[in-house]
Amino acid sequence: MARIVQKYGGTSVGDVDRIKNVAARIKAFRDEGNQLVVVVSARSGVTNELIARAKAIHPNPPEREMDQLLSIGEQETIALTAMALEAIGVEAVSYTGAQAGIFTDKAHTKAKIKTIDARPLEKDLSAGKVIIVAGFQGINDDGHITTLGRGGSDLTAIALAAAIKADKCEIYTDVDGVYTADPRVVKNARKLDEISYDEMLELASAGSKVMQSRSVEFAAKYDVVFEVRSSFNNNPGTIVKQE
Ligand code: ADP
Ligand code: ASP
Ligand code: MG
Repeated sequence: MARIVQKYGGTSVGDVDRIKNVAARIKAFRDEGNQLVVVVSARSGVTNELIARAKAIHPNPPEREMDQLLSIGEQETIALTAMALEAIGVEAVSYTGAQAGIFTDKAHTKAKIKTIDARPLEKDLSAGKVIIVAGFQGINDDGHITTLGRGGSDLTAIALAAAIKADKCEIYTDVDGVYTADPRVVKNARKLDEISYDEMLELASAGSKVMQSRSVEFAAKYDVVFEVRSSFNNNPGTIVKQE
Protein backbone atom coordinates (compact mmCIF):
# COMPACT_ATOMS: atom_id res chain seq x y z
CA MET A 1 0.00 0.00 0.00
CA ALA A 2 1.27 3.41 -0.93
CA ARG A 3 0.12 6.92 -0.20
CA ILE A 4 -0.30 8.66 -3.54
CA VAL A 5 -1.07 12.27 -4.48
CA GLN A 6 -2.36 12.65 -8.03
CA LYS A 7 -3.22 15.81 -9.92
CA TYR A 8 -5.44 15.94 -12.99
CA GLY A 9 -5.28 19.12 -15.07
CA GLY A 10 -8.02 20.98 -16.91
CA THR A 11 -8.08 18.94 -20.12
CA SER A 12 -8.11 15.68 -18.16
CA VAL A 13 -11.35 16.74 -16.42
CA GLY A 14 -12.59 18.78 -19.40
CA ASP A 15 -16.05 17.23 -19.68
CA VAL A 16 -18.32 14.59 -18.13
CA ASP A 17 -16.77 11.68 -20.04
CA ARG A 18 -13.26 12.73 -19.09
CA ILE A 19 -14.26 13.06 -15.45
CA LYS A 20 -15.63 9.50 -15.64
CA ASN A 21 -12.36 8.37 -17.22
CA VAL A 22 -10.39 9.99 -14.39
CA ALA A 23 -12.67 8.30 -11.83
CA ALA A 24 -12.02 4.90 -13.43
CA ARG A 25 -8.27 5.50 -13.27
CA ILE A 26 -8.50 6.53 -9.62
CA LYS A 27 -10.56 3.42 -8.85
CA ALA A 28 -7.84 1.18 -10.27
CA PHE A 29 -5.27 2.71 -7.90
CA ARG A 30 -7.70 2.49 -4.97
CA ASP A 31 -8.46 -1.18 -5.76
CA GLU A 32 -4.74 -1.91 -5.33
CA GLY A 33 -5.15 -0.75 -1.72
CA ASN A 34 -3.46 2.63 -2.04
CA GLN A 35 -4.42 5.76 -0.13
CA LEU A 36 -5.25 8.53 -2.56
CA VAL A 37 -5.42 12.30 -2.41
CA VAL A 38 -6.44 13.67 -5.80
CA VAL A 39 -6.12 17.32 -6.79
CA VAL A 40 -8.20 18.52 -9.72
CA SER A 41 -8.19 21.70 -11.80
CA ALA A 42 -11.17 23.51 -13.25
CA ARG A 43 -12.40 22.17 -16.61
CA SER A 44 -10.14 23.58 -19.31
CA GLY A 45 -11.31 27.02 -20.42
CA VAL A 46 -13.42 27.70 -17.32
CA THR A 47 -10.90 29.88 -15.50
CA ASN A 48 -10.33 31.97 -18.65
CA GLU A 49 -14.09 32.32 -19.18
CA LEU A 50 -14.57 33.55 -15.61
CA ILE A 51 -11.77 36.09 -16.03
CA ALA A 52 -13.36 37.37 -19.24
CA ARG A 53 -16.73 37.72 -17.52
CA ALA A 54 -15.21 39.66 -14.64
CA LYS A 55 -13.40 42.02 -17.03
CA ALA A 56 -16.63 42.63 -18.94
CA ILE A 57 -18.08 43.99 -15.70
CA HIS A 58 -15.07 45.82 -14.21
CA PRO A 59 -11.89 46.84 -16.06
CA ASN A 60 -9.80 46.11 -12.99
CA PRO A 61 -11.80 43.82 -10.69
CA PRO A 62 -10.98 43.78 -6.97
CA GLU A 63 -8.56 40.91 -6.40
CA ARG A 64 -10.48 39.49 -3.47
CA GLU A 65 -13.54 39.16 -5.68
CA MET A 66 -11.45 37.60 -8.46
CA ASP A 67 -10.36 34.87 -6.06
CA GLN A 68 -13.91 34.37 -4.88
CA LEU A 69 -14.94 33.97 -8.52
CA LEU A 70 -12.06 31.87 -9.88
CA SER A 71 -12.23 29.34 -7.06
CA ILE A 72 -15.61 28.12 -8.32
CA GLY A 73 -14.04 26.42 -11.35
CA GLU A 74 -12.28 23.88 -9.15
CA GLN A 75 -15.24 23.63 -6.81
CA GLU A 76 -17.29 22.25 -9.69
CA THR A 77 -14.78 19.57 -10.64
CA ILE A 78 -14.12 18.31 -7.09
CA ALA A 79 -17.83 17.63 -6.54
CA LEU A 80 -18.31 16.01 -9.96
CA THR A 81 -15.20 13.84 -9.55
CA ALA A 82 -16.33 12.68 -6.10
CA MET A 83 -19.77 11.86 -7.54
CA ALA A 84 -18.18 9.98 -10.46
CA LEU A 85 -16.27 7.86 -7.93
CA GLU A 86 -19.34 7.19 -5.79
CA ALA A 87 -21.18 6.15 -8.97
CA ILE A 88 -18.67 3.34 -9.50
CA GLY A 89 -18.66 2.26 -5.87
CA VAL A 90 -15.64 4.16 -4.54
CA GLU A 91 -16.08 6.11 -1.32
CA ALA A 92 -14.93 9.64 -2.00
CA VAL A 93 -15.17 13.06 -0.40
CA SER A 94 -14.45 16.46 -1.93
CA TYR A 95 -12.54 19.22 -0.14
CA THR A 96 -12.15 22.89 -1.02
CA GLY A 97 -8.70 24.35 -0.35
CA ALA A 98 -9.93 25.74 2.98
CA GLN A 99 -11.44 22.40 3.99
CA ALA A 100 -8.12 20.74 3.14
CA GLY A 101 -6.40 23.10 5.59
CA ILE A 102 -4.39 25.00 2.97
CA PHE A 103 -3.49 28.30 4.63
CA THR A 104 -1.94 31.06 2.53
CA ASP A 105 -0.71 34.62 2.91
CA LYS A 106 -2.99 37.49 1.93
CA ALA A 107 -1.67 38.09 -1.59
CA HIS A 108 -4.91 37.61 -3.52
CA THR A 109 -4.52 36.05 -7.01
CA LYS A 110 -0.91 34.99 -6.29
CA ALA A 111 -0.99 33.73 -2.72
CA LYS A 112 1.79 31.66 -1.20
CA ILE A 113 1.02 28.58 0.88
CA LYS A 114 2.14 29.13 4.49
CA THR A 115 1.00 25.94 6.19
CA ILE A 116 -1.17 22.93 5.61
CA ASP A 117 -3.18 21.47 8.47
CA ALA A 118 -3.63 17.94 7.16
CA ARG A 119 -5.59 16.58 10.12
CA PRO A 120 -9.08 16.50 8.52
CA LEU A 121 -7.60 14.95 5.43
CA GLU A 122 -5.69 12.32 7.41
CA LYS A 123 -8.90 11.33 9.18
CA ASP A 124 -10.76 10.61 5.94
CA LEU A 125 -7.71 8.87 4.47
CA SER A 126 -7.61 6.52 7.45
CA ALA A 127 -11.32 5.86 6.94
CA GLY A 128 -10.46 4.59 3.47
CA LYS A 129 -11.97 7.44 1.50
CA VAL A 130 -10.50 8.88 -1.66
CA ILE A 131 -10.05 12.60 -1.11
CA ILE A 132 -10.59 15.03 -3.96
CA VAL A 133 -9.05 18.45 -3.32
CA ALA A 134 -9.69 21.65 -5.26
CA GLY A 135 -6.45 22.84 -6.79
CA PHE A 136 -5.34 26.46 -7.06
CA GLN A 137 -7.00 27.73 -3.87
CA GLY A 138 -6.49 28.25 -0.18
CA ILE A 139 -7.69 30.42 2.65
CA ASN A 140 -5.93 33.26 4.46
CA ASP A 141 -5.92 34.08 8.17
CA ASP A 142 -8.91 36.40 7.73
CA GLY A 143 -10.96 33.54 6.28
CA HIS A 144 -10.92 34.86 2.71
CA ILE A 145 -10.47 32.53 -0.27
CA THR A 146 -7.17 33.06 -2.10
CA THR A 147 -5.79 31.62 -5.34
CA LEU A 148 -2.24 30.51 -6.03
CA GLY A 149 -1.53 32.04 -9.45
CA ARG A 150 -2.34 30.55 -12.85
CA GLY A 151 -1.51 26.87 -13.09
CA GLY A 152 -1.66 26.76 -9.30
CA SER A 153 -3.22 23.30 -9.04
CA ASP A 154 0.28 21.95 -9.63
CA LEU A 155 1.38 23.74 -6.48
CA THR A 156 -1.55 22.35 -4.49
CA ALA A 157 -0.50 18.82 -5.46
CA ILE A 158 3.19 19.26 -4.69
CA ALA A 159 2.50 21.00 -1.36
CA LEU A 160 0.01 18.33 -0.28
CA ALA A 161 2.48 15.58 -1.23
CA ALA A 162 5.05 17.24 1.05
CA ALA A 163 2.53 17.80 3.86
CA ILE A 164 1.23 14.24 4.02
CA LYS A 165 4.60 12.66 3.19
CA ALA A 166 3.24 10.91 0.12
CA ASP A 167 5.18 7.98 -1.33
CA LYS A 168 4.35 9.17 -4.82
CA CYS A 169 3.21 12.36 -6.53
CA GLU A 170 1.83 12.07 -10.05
CA ILE A 171 0.93 15.04 -12.24
CA TYR A 172 -1.48 13.85 -14.93
CA THR A 173 -1.81 16.04 -17.97
CA ASP A 174 -2.53 15.90 -21.71
CA VAL A 175 0.98 15.02 -22.91
CA ASP A 176 3.11 11.96 -22.10
CA GLY A 177 5.61 13.85 -19.96
CA VAL A 178 8.18 16.61 -20.11
CA TYR A 179 9.68 17.08 -23.58
CA THR A 180 12.81 18.90 -24.73
CA ALA A 181 10.39 21.58 -26.01
CA ASP A 182 6.61 22.01 -26.24
CA PRO A 183 5.58 18.95 -28.31
CA ARG A 184 2.61 20.87 -29.74
CA VAL A 185 4.97 23.45 -31.23
CA VAL A 186 8.20 21.56 -31.92
CA LYS A 187 7.44 18.44 -33.96
CA ASN A 188 10.68 16.57 -33.19
CA ALA A 189 10.67 17.34 -29.46
CA ARG A 190 11.81 14.33 -27.44
CA LYS A 191 10.24 13.00 -24.25
CA LEU A 192 12.62 12.89 -21.30
CA ASP A 193 12.63 9.93 -18.89
CA GLU A 194 14.10 12.05 -16.11
CA ILE A 195 14.82 15.71 -15.55
CA SER A 196 16.06 17.82 -12.63
CA TYR A 197 14.10 20.67 -11.04
CA ASP A 198 16.64 23.17 -12.37
CA GLU A 199 16.40 21.84 -15.92
CA MET A 200 12.63 22.00 -15.73
CA LEU A 201 12.76 25.62 -14.55
CA GLU A 202 15.13 26.41 -17.42
CA LEU A 203 12.68 24.94 -19.91
CA ALA A 204 9.96 27.13 -18.42
CA SER A 205 12.02 30.29 -18.58
CA ALA A 206 12.78 29.47 -22.22
CA GLY A 207 9.01 29.58 -22.79
CA SER A 208 8.23 25.87 -22.59
CA LYS A 209 6.10 25.31 -19.55
CA VAL A 210 4.32 22.13 -18.61
CA MET A 211 3.97 22.92 -14.89
CA GLN A 212 3.66 26.10 -12.85
CA SER A 213 7.21 27.27 -12.07
CA ARG A 214 6.38 28.01 -8.45
CA SER A 215 5.32 24.40 -7.98
CA VAL A 216 8.66 23.17 -9.33
CA GLU A 217 10.52 25.55 -7.00
CA PHE A 218 8.45 24.27 -4.09
CA ALA A 219 9.23 20.66 -5.04
CA ALA A 220 12.95 21.48 -5.16
CA LYS A 221 12.79 23.13 -1.74
CA TYR A 222 10.99 20.23 -0.06
CA ASP A 223 12.55 17.49 -2.19
CA VAL A 224 9.27 16.23 -3.60
CA VAL A 225 9.96 13.74 -6.40
CA PHE A 226 7.12 13.66 -8.91
CA GLU A 227 6.17 12.15 -12.24
CA VAL A 228 4.54 14.05 -15.11
CA ARG A 229 2.44 11.70 -17.23
CA SER A 230 -0.65 11.43 -19.39
CA SER A 231 -4.17 10.80 -18.13
CA PHE A 232 -5.10 9.44 -21.56
CA ASN A 233 -2.80 6.38 -21.71
CA ASN A 234 -0.55 4.27 -19.49
CA ASN A 235 2.80 5.31 -20.92
CA PRO A 236 5.52 5.98 -18.37
CA GLY A 237 6.05 9.70 -17.88
CA THR A 238 8.94 11.88 -16.81
CA ILE A 239 10.42 11.66 -13.32
CA VAL A 240 11.37 15.05 -11.90
CA LYS A 241 13.86 15.07 -9.02
CA GLN A 242 17.09 16.54 -7.70
CA GLU A 243 20.05 16.02 -10.04
P1 ADP B 1 -2.81 20.89 -17.34
O1 ADP B 1 -4.14 21.44 -17.74
O2 ADP B 1 -2.81 19.40 -17.23
O3 ADP B 1 -2.24 21.57 -16.13
P2 ADP B 1 -1.14 22.50 -19.06
O4 ADP B 1 -1.86 22.96 -20.28
O5 ADP B 1 -0.95 23.48 -17.96
O6 ADP B 1 -1.84 21.16 -18.55
O7 ADP B 1 0.29 21.93 -19.45
C1 ADP B 1 0.39 20.90 -20.42
C2 ADP B 1 0.79 21.51 -21.74
O8 ADP B 1 2.12 22.03 -21.62
C3 ADP B 1 0.91 20.52 -22.87
O9 ADP B 1 -0.32 20.35 -23.54
C4 ADP B 1 2.00 21.12 -23.77
O10 ADP B 1 1.47 21.72 -24.93
C5 ADP B 1 2.61 22.22 -22.92
N1 ADP B 1 4.08 22.19 -22.85
C6 ADP B 1 4.87 23.28 -22.96
N2 ADP B 1 6.15 22.94 -22.88
C7 ADP B 1 6.21 21.60 -22.70
C8 ADP B 1 7.28 20.65 -22.53
N3 ADP B 1 8.55 21.02 -22.54
N4 ADP B 1 6.95 19.35 -22.36
C9 ADP B 1 5.66 18.96 -22.34
N5 ADP B 1 4.60 19.81 -22.50
C10 ADP B 1 4.88 21.12 -22.68
N1 ASP C 1 -7.69 26.60 -13.03
C1 ASP C 1 -6.47 27.30 -12.75
C2 ASP C 1 -5.90 27.91 -14.03
O1 ASP C 1 -6.46 27.72 -15.09
C3 ASP C 1 -5.44 26.46 -12.04
C4 ASP C 1 -4.92 25.26 -12.81
O2 ASP C 1 -5.52 24.82 -13.79
O3 ASP C 1 -3.88 24.74 -12.39
O4 ASP C 1 -4.91 28.58 -13.97
MG1 MG D 1 -1.32 23.48 -15.91
